[in-house]
Amino acid sequence: MTARVLDGRPVASHLWRELGDRAAAVHAKTGAAPRLAIVRFSAEGPAGVYALSLARAAHGVGIETLWVDPPEGVTAVDLEARIGALNRDADVAGIVVTQPLPDHLDLARTLELIDPSKDVDGATAQSAGLLARGAPTFAPATALAILEILRAYEIPISGRRAVVIGRSAVAGRPVAALLLAADATVIVCHRRTRNLARETRRAELLVVAAGSPGLVRAEMVNRSCVVIDAGINVTPDGVVGDVDFNAVRPVVAGITPVPGGVGPVTTMMLLHQTLISAERAAAVRPPELDRFRTPVPAEVAGG
Ligand code: NAD
Repeated sequence: MTARVLDGRPVASHLWRELGDRAAAVHAKTGAAPRLAIVRFSAEGPAGVYALSLARAAHGVGIETLWVDPPEGVTAVDLEARIGALNRDADVAGIVVTQPLPDHLDLARTLELIDPSKDVDGATAQSAGLLARGAPTFAPATALAILEILRAYEIPISGRRAVVIGRSAVAGRPVAALLLAADATVIVCHRRTRNLARETRRAELLVVAAGSPGLVRAEMVNRSCVVIDAGINVTPDGVVGDVDFNAVRPVVAGITPVPGGVGPVTTMMLLHQTLISAERAAAVRPPELDRFRTPVPAEVAGG
C-alpha cells in the first residue's frame, strides 16, 4: 500500500474560482477591486519571489496589489507613517509585511503597526492572542492552508492525536492552535524535544514545519498517519520539504508533496482573508472568519 498524495493544487484551484467570484462581488458593490498592500524590503531572494507570486495570484482572482517599497535604511518612524497611511486608506483591505526585515528594524514592533482589521496574515499580537484563545480572528495563512487541506480531503481532526514539529509564530504555533480549536489532541515538538521519533510514531496527524530537509524518516511514522509537510527547503536537488517523501510515502496513509502541497493553498488563504476584510468593509456579506466550509472539490473527492 502506498499513501494517498494530498495534492494542494486542486484545492487551490477550487479556492481560486470561489475567491474570483467574491472579488467580483466586492468590485460590483464598491466600484473598485479589493486591494492588498504588500510591504517589501527586497524584490530579490525568496521574499521577493514570494511577494511576486502573491501579487500574481491576487491579480488572478481580481485583487489589486499595492507595492510599498520602503527605501533602504528606512527608519522605524518613517515606516510607522507608511503603514499608518495604509491603515487609514479605506481602499486597502489587507496589509502584509514580507520577512525577513532589515536588521535595524524590530520585527514584533513593525508587525504591531498593522491595523488588526487589515491583518490578513494574522501577524499581529491581537490576532495571535485571539487565535491562542480559540476565538475567531485572522490567522497565519500557512496554518490555515494546512487545515484547509485536511478538510478538503475529508481527513478527520476531532479527537485525533496531532503532532506538530515546529513552534514558530508563522507556522507551528498557529497550526497547533487551529488543530486544538478543531478538537485534536495536540503535541508540539521543537528543537529541544528529547525523543522526536517517540512522539511522531504515535501521531495520527503529523504536521511538519521545521525547515530541516529529511527530518522525518520512514521509521518515525505509523501506517495510519497523515503527514502534512509545510517545509520549503532549497537544496541542490531542488525544492524539498522536511519529510523524506519517497521513503515515507509507502508507509503512511496520506502525505502532501513539496512543492505542490501546502504552498499553493497558503497563497489562497491569504487572499481569502483579504476578501473577508474587503467584504466586511463593503458590507457585501456578513464576516465569515470561520471558513472551513469549502465543499470538497470534485477533483479532490475523486482522488
Ligand atoms: P523557524 O526556523 O522559525 O522555526 C522552525 C521550528 O522548527 C522551530 O520551532 C524549531 O524548534 C523547530 N525545529 C527545527 N529543527 C528541528 C528538529 N531537528 N527537531 C525538532 N524541531 C525542529 O521556521 P518557520 O518560519 O516556522 O518555517 C519552517 C518551515 O516551513 C521552513 O521550511 C519554511 O520555509 C516553511 N514555511 C512554509 C510556508 C508555506 O507556505 N508552505 C510558510 C512559512 C514557512
